[in-house]
Order: sequence, then C-alpha cells, then structure tokens
Amino acid sequence: MMPELPEVETVRMGLLPVMEGHRFTHVETRRGDLRVPFPNDFAGRLIGRRVKRLWRRAKYILGDLDDGETLVIHLGMSGRMSVHVAGAAKKLGNYVHDMSEATVGKDKHDHVVLDTDAPARIVFNDHRRFGLMLLVETGALDEHKLFKGLGVEPLSDEFNADFLAGALKGKKTPIKSALLDQRVIAGLGNIYVCEALFRAGISPKRQAAKVRQDQVKALAPAIKAVLREAVKAGGSSLRDHKRTDGELGMFQHNFAVYGRERRPCPGPKCKGTVRRIVQAGRSTFYCPSCQR
Ligand SMILES: [Zn+2]
Repeated sequence: MMPELPEVETVRMGLLPVMEGHRFTHVETRRGDLRVPFPNDFAGRLIGRRVKRLWRRAKYILGDLDDGETLVIHLGMSGRMSVHVAGAAKKLGNYVHDMSEATVGKDKHDHVVLDTDAPARIVFNDHRRFGLMLLVETGALDEHKLFKGLGVEPLSDEFNADFLAGALKGKKTPIKSALLDQRVIAGLGNIYVCEALFRAGISPKRQAAKVRQDQVKALAPAIKAVLREAVKAGGSSLRDHKRTDGELGMFQHNFAVYGRERRPCPGPKCKGTVRRIVQAGRSTFYCPSCQR
C-alpha cells in the first residue's frame, strides 16, 4: 500500500512538533540518491536553517526554510519517517521513539538523518527508494516541474460539486480514471477514489461525462469526507499512547470496499458482494449492486 494524501498529511502532523519552528543541527545522507540525486551540498544548505512552515501540496511535504528555499519531501512507495526524542516520547505520541535505542538510524534502508534543535532525530527509511528530497526556491515552487499543472487540493474550498462538474464535462474516460488525474485533483489516489465512489453510489466504470448531476453533487462531498475521516483517523493514531509500534507512514483503516474483494457489501440493505476489477493497471474495488 502506497501512502496517499491522508497518510502524507498524518506524517506532516507527526513531524510538525519537531520540525516547524526548529533549526536543522545535523543532516546526513547515506547515499547519493533516492529516486533522484540529492541536491548539491544538501546537508550544508539545510544545517543552520530554520523551518518556518511545514505544509503539504498533493503528496509532497514542504518545509519552507528561512533562507528562501523549500525542502521538498516525497515518501514514494515505501518511505517512512521515524522521530526520535530523548526521554520525551510520551509527550508527543506513539510514533516517537526514544533516542537511546541502539538501532536509531542504523537500518540499511535509513537513507537520511535529519537532526533538529527540538531536539529530535528524524530518520527517513525507504527500502524501495521511490521517495525524494529536494531543495527548491520557495517563490518558484509553482513553476517547478513537480508542481506545475497540479490540480486543486481536494480538501480546499475550491474543490466542490461545481468544480467537479466542470472537470468531468466531455471526458470519455471512466470516472475512476478521471478522478485519479493529478492535473484535475492533486493527491487523490486509488484507495480513496474507490471509497468515495462507493459512498456516492457511482460505478467506477461509468463514463466521466455521463455521471449524473445528482451523482456529482454526492461525489464531491464524498471525496472530502473519506479524506477528512482518514486524516482524522491518522491524527488519532498519532495520539494513541497505547500503541508503541507506531511509525510515520502508514496506518490501518477500515475501508468499505478497498481490499475487500468477495466480501459482503457493507451498504445498508445491500446483498451484493464487493468485486475487484483492473482499470488502467490499478485495482478497483466496488459493489456492482449499489454503484451504478
Ligand atoms: Zn452494495
């Protein structure tokens, strides 16, 4: 399972207390690249810099620095962040590990170590190395190839039924594919598209242009709701002090259809079964009885 918007937002929330407002005191990269090479003098450009703001765009975590550059972090497929604090783990949440653990930053897939004056050690572990870390001039972010042409944030006010109706107009692709188009909606991924289509009662196979108006009216809030609920679940997973296995990156959700092939549809009064099909190379889970 790949981190989607809510998981990335959860990682951002977990990093906030040890990154935002804090200065980097030590930075270490254990190899020359992840998906792409690290920027020239990556450590040198970060050390001594303060993170003014830690925010998110699509599935990127962005740390605006006090020198006009922004640290861009993408978790890729398997990227994980762990936070290590001396003795103070209980204050922050289950995902914070004690600094004294002998294994801190010692795994062979621990590729980046970021120390801040919180003080804390943040370790980026990525065994498949599809993640990335870059430094981009803050004022030029919108023009950077990673961000140029990205669609609206699905949790913003700009994203609503009117916007969605306009975006789907004339589109001959299945609604599932239309919703995954990052130039339309930024950061929406496979899992939450499946969940939102189920909630709105729309077949993932329906042609985007043929989604009825009443369905579009249900779909926009369904997208927001599944994302908001997942962000909220992520937030509570951070605060749950009973769990000690926490790692920033993934957490378990209860999905209605995603990953539930051949299981009974959870829809009230529905006697259908969740089915899995493949669309554009990705698994789609849906209920053929209540999604039309
Ligand atoms: Zn059903």
